[in-house]
Amino acid sequence: MDSTIIECADCSQLLRVPIGSKFVACPKCSSNIALEFVQKNDGGVMFTRGFFFGLGLPLAMILVSMTIASVGDSQDYDGFNILLLIPFTTAAILLAISATLSRVSGELHQRNVHVDIRTGAWISVVLTLAFYFIMSIAVMVGRAGVR
Ligand SMILES: [Zn+2]
Repeated sequence: MDSTIIECADCSQLLRVPIGSKFVACPKCSSNIALEFVQKNDGGVMFTRGFFFGLGLPLAMILVSMTIASVGDSQDYDGFNILLLIPFTTAAILLAISATLSRVSGELHQRNVHVDIRTGAWISVVLTLAFYFIMSIAVMVGRAGVR
């Protein structure tokens, strides 16, 4: 686990504390120190993680659905259509969950993570919807060409 060095406000003793802990007791003067600044740092790291999780997971589903589509029966139009909707559905579900949790989460830090996931999921919803329409049109054009 990552740790950081802080200075005790009462006795200036240097303390090594794990990142993410909320309180640390100074071993020299035994005063309790609240680590709010560590929480902010941690939140900064989590922003990136939450955002890329919300953005990345649905986009990864595009690859998954394309992989399944390429090994599956290419004549199965309905099956292919459902596959194309998987990334969008993933993004929409992620958006719904993170939007709900960002409202109901009691802890500020937790709430921020869900807000970040929601931001990423919003972008994913737009991207995966665009992907769905482009691929549907491509499939329709392809089918029209075959006939
Ligand atoms: Zn101290």
